[in-house]
Amino acid sequence: MAKNIQAIRGMHDLLPDQSPRWQFLEARVRDVLARYGYEEVRMPIVEFTDLFKRSIGEVTDIVEKEMYTFEDRNGDSLTLRPEGTAGCVRAALEHGLLHNQTQRLWYQGPMFRHERPQKGRYRQFHQIGVETFGMPGPDIDAELILMTARLWQELGIEGLELQLNTLGSPEERAIYRDELVKYFSAHKEHLDEDSQRRLGSNPLRILDTKNPGMAEVVAGAPTLDAYLGDESRKHFQTICSVLDEAGVAYVINPRLVRGLDYYSRTVFEWVTDLLGAQGTVCAGGRFDGLVTQLGGRDTPAVGFAMGIERLVAVLEELDRIRLPTRAHAYLVLVGENAQRAGLTIAEQLRGELPGLRLLCHCGGGSFKSQFKKADRSGAEIALILGEDELASASIGIKYLRKESEQVNLPINELASFLAEFLQKKTED
Ligand code: ATP
Ligand code: MG
Repeated sequence: MAKNIQAIRGMHDLLPDQSPRWQFLEARVRDVLARYGYEEVRMPIVEFTDLFKRSIGEVTDIVEKEMYTFEDRNGDSLTLRPEGTAGCVRAALEHGLLHNQTQRLWYQGPMFRHERPQKGRYRQFHQIGVETFGMPGPDIDAELILMTARLWQELGIEGLELQLNTLGSPEERAIYRDELVKYFSAHKEHLDEDSQRRLGSNPLRILDTKNPGMAEVVAGAPTLDAYLGDESRKHFQTICSVLDEAGVAYVINPRLVRGLDYYSRTVFEWVTDLLGAQGTVCAGGRFDGLVTQLGGRDTPAVGFAMGIERLVAVLEELDRIRLPTRAHAYLVLVGENAQRAGLTIAEQLRGELPGLRLLCHCGGGSFKSQFKKADRSGAEIALILGEDELASASIGIKYLRKESEQVNLPINELASFLAEFLQKKTED
């Protein structure tokens, strides 16, 4: 027999035992975003490779070694998106959304990076991302962070740490960059191969290394705050004071730099200690330079992206959510006539009771085998229709999760019986 084809390493199926957590998370996030006035955009999953090279930057882990790039049949170089910001800016520019206006946009979907798969790190993973455009001040940075804090609250996630830093303006960063190059050049023997290469191209990236062997040399590096000008300092302080007033705790982490080239000023991450090494569940910041980098007019921008797999893992770890019932009732149908009549009865019930989750047995079989399926479905009630019930226009009712005898009801009382059952459930 031929060997079964399996999913690609690092790319996972989402199965029914997990999907309720994803749906819970997605629904809550969507709700909170709407409450802050965010509007959804959906971009293609594939873009021209150049879009990512120009936005993320050639000297990055993503562009250097993580992209799924291929030539299509026309000979164009295309890439499965490794993140959503580039495509979002491309779409906003292409459709004139950035012209003399502010925007609050969000997107969600799969991203692709050829990384080493491990817990919390996959080759296909999912993000919900938010991007705002046209707002230069610290107010929007602060609002964004407050919104993420509200998100965790609505999701029942406690214990995340907010880390905050500022990367200053491009001019301030240029001075700092020179200082960093001086420092790291003096400690070159402690740098790994990647970092030695980055010393020439983008030394800030070295601070972002995941190599534990370099922790010490990174810890000794100069920090940017000494090079901040008044405006950058004020921008950052305003954000901090809004967070203070709102009671959102944070730690300033002067070594927090984002892996991507286009950030300026504010950067932040929400980190959990529940998931081991892959602790960042949400990361974002200001990227005022990106829109011009992609050919648009100077447009301030701030955003963030959340890793859905990691947030779902946190939800699972905390075990807070009550997973929804798959089925309230299971309609057992024995005999050909009952099977046919059952489909019609089920349709009527669903029409009358929109809150009802009703599984109607399909595929025939004995009472016994159907009851087994009813039990496995998680339903609380079995509704039983056989030839006898059909003949007497009644329906059998048996509770599956508690000791009880089967009772019979006239079929025309079934809808009000189930309505009452649902009513009681919502009161519980
Ligand atoms: P990391 O430092 O963990 O590699 P990153 O800086 O590359 O993250 P971003 O590009 O900022 O990540 O993406 C935002 C969020 O998306 C991350 O904080 C994380 O939650 C999630 N994420 C990034 N890469 C992966 C991945 N390979 N698998 C699962 N989630 C990921
Ligand atoms: Mg990464």
